[in-house]
Amino acid sequence: MSDPNCLFCKIAAREVPAEILRESDRVVAFRDVNPQAPTHILLIPKEHIESLAEVGDAHGSLLADIVQAAAHLARTEGIDEGGWRFVSNVGPDAGQAVFHLHFHLLGGRPMGWPPG
Ligand code: 5GP
Ligand code: ZN
Repeated sequence: MSDPNCLFCKIAAREVPAEILRESDRVVAFRDVNPQAPTHILLIPKEHIESLAEVGDAHGSLLADIVQAAAHLARTEGIDEGGWRFVSNVGPDAGQAVFHLHFHLLGGRPMGWPPG
C-alpha cells in the first residue's frame, strides 16, 4: 500500500534518493535532508499511513518496530547516553509537511522544552 504521489513512499521504494541507515520489511530510517540537530533521522513505515491520527489496532507491532529501530539508531549514533527526542508532527498546528507517518529522532545537542 503506497501512494505514487508521496515523497516518503518514493524514498521507501528507493525511487527518490536518501541516506538510508536502516531498513526492515516494514520500516525505513533515513537522515533528514534539513537536519535540526547533529543527529536527525526520520523513521517511517513502508505502508502509507498519513499520520498518527490514522493509526489503528492493527498497527501496534509496527509502532513497536519503529520505536525499537529508533532506540537502536540512538545507540549506533552515540546519542543514547546524552538522550534523544522522538516526535511526530500531526496536522497544521504541529507543522506536518509530509503526509506519510514519520517520526523525527533528534539528538546530539541539548534541546529546549517546550518545543517552539
Ligand atoms: P514534518 O514537518 O512533516 O514533520 O517533517 C518533514 C521532514 O521531512 C522535514 O524535517 C524535512 O526536512 C524532511 N524532508 C522533506 N523532504 C525530504 C527529502 O526529500 N529527503 C529527506 N531525507 N528529508 C526530507
Ligand atoms: Zn507515503
